[in-house]
Amino acid sequence: MRKIAIMGAGQSGLHLAIRLIRNGYQVTMVSERSAEEIFNGPPTGATYLFHDSLQLERELGLDLWKDSAYHSTGFNVNFGTPDGNYAFSINSRTSKPGASIDQRMKFYQWIKLFEKLGGQFIVSDTTPSDLLACTEQFDLVIVSSGKGPLARLFTRDDERSTHEVPARKLVQLHINNFEHIGKTKFTSISLDAVMGAGEIITAPFYQKDDIQCAFLLVESIPGGPMDVFDGAMSGSQLLERTKEMIRILLPWRYEAFANAEIIADDAYLKGSFTPVVRKPVVHLNSKAAVMGLGDTVILNDPIVGQGGNNASKMANVYAQAIIRHGNAPFDAEWMNRTFEEFWEYSRHVNRFCDIFLSPPAPHVIELLGAASQNPDIASDFVNGFNHPPALFPWLDDEQAARLYMAEKMQAAI
Ligand SMILES: Cc1cc2nc3c(=O)[nH]c(=O)nc-3n(C[C@H](O)[C@H](O)[C@H](O)COP(=O)(O)OP(=O)(O)OC[C@H]3O[C@@H](n4cnc5c(N)ncnc54)[C@H](O)[C@@H]3O)c2cc1C
Repeated sequence: MRKIAIMGAGQSGLHLAIRLIRNGYQVTMVSERSAEEIFNGPPTGATYLFHDSLQLERELGLDLWKDSAYHSTGFNVNFGTPDGNYAFSINSRTSKPGASIDQRMKFYQWIKLFEKLGGQFIVSDTTPSDLLACTEQFDLVIVSSGKGPLARLFTRDDERSTHEVPARKLVQLHINNFEHIGKTKFTSISLDAVMGAGEIITAPFYQKDDIQCAFLLVESIPGGPMDVFDGAMSGSQLLERTKEMIRILLPWRYEAFANAEIIADDAYLKGSFTPVVRKPVVHLNSKAAVMGLGDTVILNDPIVGQGGNNASKMANVYAQAIIRHGNAPFDAEWMNRTFEEFWEYSRHVNRFCDIFLSPPAPHVIELLGAASQNPDIASDFVNGFNHPPALFPWLDDEQAARLYMAEKMQAAI
């Protein structure tokens, strides 16, 4: 039986571990925190998963909240101008539902399931020197420790990385009494964008204490008018500043947030990080190598909600490649090839994130305007979040955008 070690029990590592164990592999996970410490720890990114990622979880029996958590299909994208005026909206439905489950509860339950299935779970903070010892004991060692310090062992890929500094400052709050336009409570994802300022994303969120609430994520451009959170150090302070910022910058959305309340004073997350793509393999010596998975090697800003989706999809691609490889050695060539297979998908994800982090090109503004008028374009756009390659080439290429819009407009006549 082939022996696999996975360092880091998060979205990607646990998904891979459970997929492999269900396929007869002997899997050891090393986590810096116990399941209980993860459950009782601070909030993580809200991680809204779209349909294809949920489907991968379903295949493994990991969709433990399918009946309790709210699964949504509504999607509203609203645009405002920097002087506080409303511009236009894209309203559509995703063809299949998505959901956001508190990762602390998810990882806790998944770790318990992994152990029940016969996996070995070790609590230890993996250090670089542990990795070499692991390569001697296991057929394959995978590092899925997220964006933490271990990721820095993996060299930045300068050709694929487009950021030198954080593109956004992030504040995430778990809130109640939040109401969308149209009085649908927590039923939709909404993304409110103000050019030059940033974005506010809200979606249903199933919090770890079995509370159905919403998450609110403010993505502020550093130094811009949404960047108002320096010095605020509690959930209630952050929410007050968010409301005041919305009242000034997005008064047309204020009503939806006016009565919002934080569900607990520590139900928040605040920080920033620089998106990066790293080389997928670390050579520990002339023979031993380990490979990276998830945020460790492809770290995107959460602006279009892709990190967790990517983590699950990448875990699936790695698992399929491991199974296909049979008893052959997992050498660096295989590791690079496996990563490239996933990059063929993720290059679109990364570009999708970058398009939304950058000032929009004229054809992107035209496309979004057209989506506000044409239900077909609106549907293609919101469903593209589930599978970003479907947004290309038209989202990125001016000529392809014109052709795409002409076809859709013609079909609408
Ligand atoms: C504010 C915010 C909002 C987000 N919203 C979304 C969203 O809506 N949709 C979406 O798809 N994605 C979203 N994301 C991204 C998503 O949360 C991550 O991309 C995803 O969790 C990455 O999975 P991972 O397995 O790579 O890392 P993680 O899930 O972070 O897991 C890494 C694990 O490794 C452990 N670890 C770290 N160091 C060590 C070590 N040395 N030894 C052992 N264990 C270690 C950590 O404790 C952790 O449990 C968001 C992120 C943020 C910050």
